[in-house]
Amino acid sequence: MRLETSLLNGIPVRDSVFAELKTKVKQQLLGGGRRPGLAVLLIGDDAASAVYVKHKTKGCEEVGFYHETHIMPADVAESEVLDLVIRLNAEPKIDGILIQLPLPGRLNQELILAAVLPEKDVDGFHPFNLGKLVAGVPTFVPCTPKGVLRLLKFYGISLAGRSVAVVGRSLIVGRPLSLLMSLKGEFANATVTMCHSGTKDLSRVTREADIVVVAVGVPKMIGAADVKKGAVVIDVGINRIDAPERKSGTRLVGDVDFESLQGHASAVTPVPGGIGPMTIAMLLENTWEAMLKREECGRG
Ligand code: NAP
Repeated sequence: MRLETSLLNGIPVRDSVFAELKTKVKQQLLGGGRRPGLAVLLIGDDAASAVYVKHKTKGCEEVGFYHETHIMPADVAESEVLDLVIRLNAEPKIDGILIQLPLPGRLNQELILAAVLPEKDVDGFHPFNLGKLVAGVPTFVPCTPKGVLRLLKFYGISLAGRSVAVVGRSLIVGRPLSLLMSLKGEFANATVTMCHSGTKDLSRVTREADIVVVAVGVPKMIGAADVKKGAVVIDVGINRIDAPERKSGTRLVGDVDFESLQGHASAVTPVPGGIGPMTIAMLLENTWEAMLKREECGRG
């Protein structure tokens, strides 16, 4: 029997988060306050990273945040990057610092992420914030995992008692998402299996799950044969592939074979327009929250 597959569109969810933030910024300014501020560091010449940074700063414009982008060449000295981070840490009008990943391989990513003040770590990658997440008391939740959870909530898809397969264990998506979904509490309580390139018979594992989240970076890797009928499928992947039929010669696809899931999954996210817009919305929400926290402590 063919199922009706619903589309988990991220754009209306992003729009509602943006509208809420825009109103809050207006009220804040009317009350004599200041705009939240986000600093973005873009190092190297990765074309996809440059596009993501553009979307993030465009989001800042839309909601009325202050923002600044610092572009550095791929051969920048690590000490220069650290100096900039230290300067931004001390800058009162900056509430959030985002270091666009991946960094050029020669830079020590761990060291640079750890140099960001935890209170300005709006990406949630500082060891202090990751540790709090593991302890079950998250402060800044990494934006993509937070976006996945917000999207599920918006569409009324509950996690409690359900089995979830998260494919991919990266620091920015799979690992924090697996932890968040398995926490005790409201909108969590799932039984999570975190899968990776060492998982044996991946398809068997994903076929057992009620919800499958895919974040691997392999175009269309998961299709209907890997998912049980009626499952919810969240596609985090963003891959640019050749598309000679298009004027641009390329198009974006996810890690999931979207077409094959029609009539098979109960719900699926599109690419583009699914998790991508959610990530940006959560980044701006984290920046707003960072400003509030800093003001509470008299540092804003
Ligand atoms: P990543 O750091 O490269 O991690 C990929 C993960 O997938 C790794 O854990 C890897 O396993 C696993 N993997 C790769 N091939 C596999 C296979 N054949 N079978 C099982 N597991 C496999 O990637 P990422 O940064 O998490 O990004 C994943 C995707 O999400 C990319 O397409 C990226 O562009 C996209 N992304 C989208 C957003 C958004 O806002 N929508 C945000 C971030 C990332 P091992 O650990 O064993 O190597």
